[in-house]
Amino acid sequence: AKEEGDGYFRYYKPNLLPLIAEKMQLENGLYKALQENQFYLQYQPKMSSVTGELCGIEALIRWNHPELGFIPPDKFIPLAEESGFIMEIDRWVFREACRQNKAWQDAGLKRASVSVNISARHFYQGNLKEMITEELQATGLEPQYVSLEITEGVFMRNIEKVIETIQHLRGLGIQISIDDFGTGYSSLSQLQRLPISDVKLDRSFIRGITIEDKRSSIVRAIIELAHSMNMRVVAEGVETPDEADFCRNLNCDELQGYLFSRPLPASDFEKLLA
Ligand code: C2E
Ligand code: CA
Ligand code: CA
Ligand code: CA
Repeated sequence: AKEEGDGYFRYYKPNLLPLIAEKMQLENGLYKALQENQFYLQYQPKMSSVTGELCGIEALIRWNHPELGFIPPDKFIPLAEESGFIMEIDRWVFREACRQNKAWQDAGLKRASVSVNISARHFYQGNLKEMITEELQATGLEPQYVSLEITEGVFMRNIEKVIETIQHLRGLGIQISIDDFGTGYSSLSQLQRLPISDVKLDRSFIRGITIEDKRSSIVRAIIELAHSMNMRVVAEGVETPDEADFCRNLNCDELQGYLFSRPLPASDFEKLLA
């Protein structure tokens, strides 16, 4: 055995191995997670900055792994995007969010639209339009109570096809939001070509912001431009009353963040709709 002796192992970074093993364990676990109901959704409200009332619901996926415990989406969504399994996850999330919102409506609770995060990959592979139509039909939720959150990454390839898909979905009555706006590659002028309902200002613009901050002129410009194109603006990750005041003063339409509520399990969220 010429193990340690010949220096072979010195070329390995020993700390990489457990990382790779964990990655494989998670990747292999995704399929089983779907089969065995290890995924569930939590819901976070969006509040109207004018009335202070709940005006929308974002569905966020959670994974309770039988051995590893809770695994945050930032850890497994990128893996699912790499492997292509995201198509199955997106469909499951979409169906479950629509089913839940329909059940709330049927129970006489407040009607609000539910937002589902859709991977950029879904715009290039598979058939997003078909998936959405099938699941709306299966759950019976009306399309005006559905919103899709997509990131600017969607606009990096095949923009014509993406615009066509978004137009089709808007035609059905579905809303489209740009998530994490300001962190990606799309420019403000590009927005003009896109049939978008609203932009969600990334939390990095909001965190600790004050009027004196350099970011405030950027935020002001984004909001004014979005409004001039009849798009709403949602501020995400609002944690403090000062951040909320700042956003209200700049005429941000909707606010979302821990200040109002953390993402909640369906049974707790229900109370916000009562
Ligand atoms: P995102 O879509 O930008 O979601 C917002 C994230 O910020 C959520 O984290 C939410 O829990 C968190 N958040 C909300 N309010 C606050 C706040 O006031 N302060 C702070 N610090 N954080 C706040 P989460 O649920 O861990 O999700 C992380 C990301 O994972 C999401 O970012 C989204 O990109 C992805 N993701 C989550 N659920 C899904 C899903 O069902 N499908 C897909 N494709 N991606 C998902
Ligand atoms: Ca989102
Ligand atoms: Ca976001
Ligand atoms: Ca984000």
